Amino acid sequence: MIKINENFLKLKSSYLFADIAKRIEKFQNDNPDKEIIKLGIGDVTLPLPPACVKAMHEAVDEMAISGSFKGYGPEQGYAFLREAIAREDFQSRGASIEPDEIFISDGAKCDTGNIQEIFDSKTVIAVPDPVYPVYVDTNVMAGRTGEFQDGRYQGLVYLESTRENNFIPKLPEKPVDLIYLCYPNNPTGATITKDQLTQWVKFAKDNKALILYDAAYEAFVRDSEIPRSIYEIEGAKEVAIEFRSFSKTAGFTGTRCAFTVVPKECRAYDSQGKEVHVHSLWNRRHSTKFNGVSYPVQKAAFAVYSPEGKTQVQSNIDYYLGNARIIREKMHDLGFDCTGGENSPYIWINGKKDSWSFFDDLLNKAGIICTPGEGFGLCGKGYIRISAFNNLENVERAMDRIEKAL
Ligand SMILES: *Cc1c(COP(=O)(O)O)cnc(C)c1O
Repeated sequence: MIKINENFLKLKSSYLFADIAKRIEKFQNDNPDKEIIKLGIGDVTLPLPPACVKAMHEAVDEMAISGSFKGYGPEQGYAFLREAIAREDFQSRGASIEPDEIFISDGAKCDTGNIQEIFDSKTVIAVPDPVYPVYVDTNVMAGRTGEFQDGRYQGLVYLESTRENNFIPKLPEKPVDLIYLCYPNNPTGATITKDQLTQWVKFAKDNKALILYDAAYEAFVRDSEIPRSIYEIEGAKEVAIEFRSFSKTAGFTGTRCAFTVVPKECRAYDSQGKEVHVHSLWNRRHSTKFNGVSYPVQKAAFAVYSPEGKTQVQSNIDYYLGNARIIREKMHDLGFDCTGGENSPYIWINGKKDSWSFFDDLLNKAGIICTPGEGFGLCGKGYIRISAFNNLENVERAMDRIEKAL
């Protein structure tokens, strides 16, 4: 008899987006001539930078000719891209990451989801609350979380991000083995300082733990005091894996290219307590189950580091940050407590009532769609997330409507 992995039955179905869709449909049926503006989206809206499009076109032409055609590439990614990343994203910021510590992939979602496979099934896991759901659900599937009860998995350690701690959780009170952190944060938009991140690195060292650092939004950091990589912290190479993506940086959500950094010093332990290099485990896992990102896509990602590419990416991010500022200032002026939106595309807003009531107010009174915070965890209760991924005109109209309605 073929049996299933029963851990899948423990997954709490996410009603969030289905629920949002249902409410929108009802609103549109009741108000057929009212236009809605979506400020709930976690996806970019601007097209690919022209430098990337040009590079991709040229790479496709190379694939059309026998002299330059390419079959399978290296599973870890082409050297041209790994070298550019090491130089531009890390070495230039004082972090000594080498090209062979970088693994090119088709997404940070897959990488943050797949990485748990190389760790023990009894690993004690700490996750932020509110959280990007991938970290939790992939560990549920692997059987590390226990049952879901009263809004939480009983086997997880939750790192509460609240107004009281400025959305940077306290260090866990008891030892944990694996810690997920994400800065700039989705959904709160909060950023972490070097001092705060240094404490997490120290905690990981003291507890022989490992940090999984999701830096998918690092390109939105404009304040030079805020770290863009965990490897800007001394000693982090031993205790941290970092995830990056071209998705939010360069508009690759539909093109797919990302990378994971696993430094050679990064260590974990076998059942005898002997040190093992995580780099070789991940290399083995990655090259066994993944066959590389397509050549034209890696060429397009490489163009992000060209002079034109850098300028174009910067201007796209400036555009989103401009939207974020408008949203943050308007909501603040209307008397709402807001985080994020300064070095992040997300603004996390205390609605002063339950998330869904605030969502309904914005929808029914202003025709605006946001994301209810409680969809990201218990600590999201009472909050909504507004996203800056939209065009400026829509953002301005949306803010006018909210001002008139509330
Ligand atoms: C969007 C996002 C990613 C990027 O995922 P891709 O699979 O690379 O598109 C990773 N982490 C977080 C928190 C995100 O919001």
